[in-house]
Amino acid sequence: MANPTGSGLAERDHMTASSSMQSSGHLKPRTLGELKRIPDFDPRGASRSVKDELRRNLLRAIEKGETLFPGVHGYEDTVIPQIVNALLSRHNFILLGLRGQAKSRILRALINLLDPEMPVIAGCEINDDPFKPICRPCRERIASDGDNTPISWMARENRFVEKLATPDVTMADIIGDVDPIRAARGGRDLSDELTIHYGLLPRANRGIFAINELPDLAGKIQVGLFNIMQEGDIQIKGYPLRLPLDVLLVFTANPEDYTARGKIITPLKDRIGAEIRTHYPATIEEGMTITAQEAWVGRDSGKKIEVPQYLRQVVEEIAFQAREDKRVDRRSGVSQRLPITAVESLVSSAEQRAARNGEKNLVARVADVYAALPAITGKLELEYEGELKGADTIARELIRTAVGRVFSKHFTDINFQSVIQWFELGGELKLPDLATTTERHQQLSKIQGLMEHVGRLGVHDRKDAGPAAAAAEMILEGLWAHRRIGRSEERGFYAEKPKQPEQRERETPGRPPRRQFN
Ligand SMILES: [Zn+2]
Repeated sequence: MANPTGSGLAERDHMTASSSMQSSGHLKPRTLGELKRIPDFDPRGASRSVKDELRRNLLRAIEKGETLFPGVHGYEDTVIPQIVNALLSRHNFILLGLRGQAKSRILRALINLLDPEMPVIAGCEINDDPFKPICRPCRERIASDGDNTPISWMARENRFVEKLATPDVTMADIIGDVDPIRAARGGRDLSDELTIHYGLLPRANRGIFAINELPDLAGKIQVGLFNIMQEGDIQIKGYPLRLPLDVLLVFTANPEDYTARGKIITPLKDRIGAEIRTHYPATIEEGMTITAQEAWVGRDSGKKIEVPQYLRQVVEEIAFQAREDKRVDRRSGVSQRLPITAVESLVSSAEQRAARNGEKNLVARVADVYAALPAITGKLELEYEGELKGADTIARELIRTAVGRVFSKHFTDINFQSVIQWFELGGELKLPDLATTTERHQQLSKIQGLMEHVGRLGVHDRKDAGPAAAAAEMILEGLWAHRRIGRSEERGFYAEKPKQPEQRERETPGRPPRRQFN
């Protein structure tokens, strides 16, 4: 929307020290005097608060159509517009979400909205503004040295301070500490700032301070945080201290912890301008995009490991299934790190097989998903019912369900009766973990009606042993997931023993697959 007063534009037209320097190509000023002499330099711009700086750069980035949070997917219409509003409003904000929802990544990406460099008084521990110093040593220095006061330039990467809150974080860690003995020996006023050991928050002055898992921060530190934001002063060990800091405060928390009574002191909650809910990917495709971006799959071994698309779908589906599973604790959630580490482990399993069998190019197979079990179990916080079954069993059931779902997506209208018949007529097949690609391809090719369907899984040539064998194995796993055939722990497939319910299912092949939890 157009701003009729034009004040928004005027605000953005002010040059900061950094931008005017870049445009004029001048050498970086080294003293306060040189800083003042930059052409077109507007000291009001230089002394802009960090929130105004973020606002200005954010508006500019939006107008240019830049990607605000590179590498963050699935939040374009939900989380990101809310963050933009919070920043434009100059609000501190909190991201509420479960594990592995890119909360920390988003907060770190705020760095990109800061000016590339910022002038500070050289040597100041709290990055004092050369035009508006708040610490006493800097004020004394400017009083004595004037325009010769040295300036240094701070890169934006150094203007982000982050801390994981735990119950043992102290006031000294966050705000600072006073040494009364040194204060007394120095003959100074006990409230004198010269005796302060600054904590993380003052060191984040003129930058961004992020506290992860805010509810774990002790109540009295929350009070300290609030006081310093509200009044710019605080008491440490009974000594009053004035610190009018300029900081954007951002937080993360688990939603249930945050809303639990008594976890966050009310005045601090009041000072947080926006509560923004993060979420897991809404679709398998979004999840796959994130996983593909984060997972280390391009290995340096000289072996080419290909991960078929349907296996990536299976791995992503495992996370989706786990997030819905009643036996998995929903309060802690299932991190996006589950599919990421699972894909990495799956590639390693294929890599290991390639090395053992002396194969150069290899296509990952369903067996490799099972080999990734250790990368999955640790990512599941189980409820009591799940604990009874054990993480291993739960994870195996999740894989089986995921395979079943992906299978259904690709083969809704295909009748595999001839494959099932092959097993019912006494056919048996073993696909040991270390069988070579050629061996597996030969074995699988014997099953009538199997190879003719591998095209559905993206295989162009059914004689191409690697992709064809992997796809054929996926089909057998899918049939097993739907209880159409049987399978042993040693990856042997055989005819499913006829039982009442399965019998019925076989007669009505169009029925949607049932969930495989039992
Ligand atoms: Zn200073």
